[in-house]
Amino acid sequence: MDLEIVTIGTELLLGFTLDSNAAEIAQAVAAVGARVAGHTTVGDAGPAIHEAVAGALRRSGFVITTGGLGPTKDDVTKRAIADIFDAPLELDEAYLERLRERFAAMGRGPMPETNRCQAEVPRGATVLPNRKGTAPGLWMEGPPGTAVLLPGVPFEMRALMRDEVVPRLEDRLQRSGGPLRVIRSRILRTTGIAESRLAEILGELEATLAPATLAYLPQIGGVDLRFTVWGQPPDRADRALERAISAARAHLGTCWYGADDDDLAAVVLELLCRDGLRLCVAESCTGGLVGSRLTAIPGSSAVFVGGVISYANESKIHDLGVPAELIEAHGAVSEVVAEAMVDGALRRFGADAGVAVTGIAGPSGGTLEKPVGTVCLSARVRNVRRTVSVRLPGGRDQIRGRAAQAALNLVRLAHGEAKAAGGP
Ligand code: AMP
Ligand code: MG
Repeated sequence: MDLEIVTIGTELLLGFTLDSNAAEIAQAVAAVGARVAGHTTVGDAGPAIHEAVAGALRRSGFVITTGGLGPTKDDVTKRAIADIFDAPLELDEAYLERLRERFAAMGRGPMPETNRCQAEVPRGATVLPNRKGTAPGLWMEGPPGTAVLLPGVPFEMRALMRDEVVPRLEDRLQRSGGPLRVIRSRILRTTGIAESRLAEILGELEATLAPATLAYLPQIGGVDLRFTVWGQPPDRADRALERAISAARAHLGTCWYGADDDDLAAVVLELLCRDGLRLCVAESCTGGLVGSRLTAIPGSSAVFVGGVISYANESKIHDLGVPAELIEAHGAVSEVVAEAMVDGALRRFGADAGVAVTGIAGPSGGTLEKPVGTVCLSARVRNVRRTVSVRLPGGRDQIRGRAAQAALNLVRLAHGEAKAAGGP
């Protein structure tokens, strides 16, 4: 089954908004075995929408659109597509009532009359209830084909895809009788290792993974390995992916930390939590990013005690007890200072594990010996200590983000070493 996507919004054409809806819909559609045959973006103009949707229906007979379902003047999607289906707009009294109740429940006064048009439904269309917003989705069937209209707001679109559109697509694919073939992907997440090095490690394995294919996706926090299987029955696809992932894990040793959308901070918290360990941080160049990553994870209070942001040398000396002579002799960005910082934090918080980061985030402050991007990190988990110096690429934001990720990873590695040594 083929379908096309039409994303609608002048902000998309102007480049102010990244078209994430098309990407998400494409993934959701592929996962159930339909094929996206094309994708068009148009502005908020009736004739352009009419032409794009009519064209998609002519080619594929099935189109999913997002955007232009709001109550304002620039929201013209519904009218333009209703026109293709020769369906007049009719007021859905029940939906209008629900809209009024929704406004009443929000306690911000009665529904503005401009919202009334959102309860107008092309004759014969099925209303897909939107629990996260005011614009309902619409499912239209007729001689031109099938058109599914979704709101542009990404979280509303996402909920409607999941609850209303994907189940109907699966149904339709099943009824069409052909064997179900899907495109499925899984991701293995790595950090602290270069893409080229990963390719060396996995080079020979790659050929043995068929029908799974492997793509390297570098990001700030590390390289994601995406395994994809195309056009297979669902159970075969899942088995092939599982096989590929476990084979890759075995080759990668400690370089991988999670799968799919696992966050390294959550992984670290989980590891320490299982062993009843408490974690603290001492941050210089990351200025609290490590603490922020950790506290973004629900339940982090079971493990994370707190931290010191010791940015100036005085703070490293006074708040963490780093000997002034160490800074004098080796500089604030040095392995010995990172070690003294983590020791100071551990003393202060009485924690079992800790990590310290000190580095040069730039754009100024670099020297020949210690260029911008030089970051020293030290982690301790009980009596295992791991200290490293790295040279991180990118601008200030990237260096700080990468340093925070490296700090979390160092805790993970130190914990692994402590485990291997029989503790903690
Ligand atoms: P609309 O439903 O057209 O009123 O869109 C509401 C908001 O959703 C817009 O202001 C955009 O920020 C966002 N949006 C619309 N289309 C897309 C898209 N294709 N991808 C990501 N965001 C979008
Ligand atoms: Mg819009």
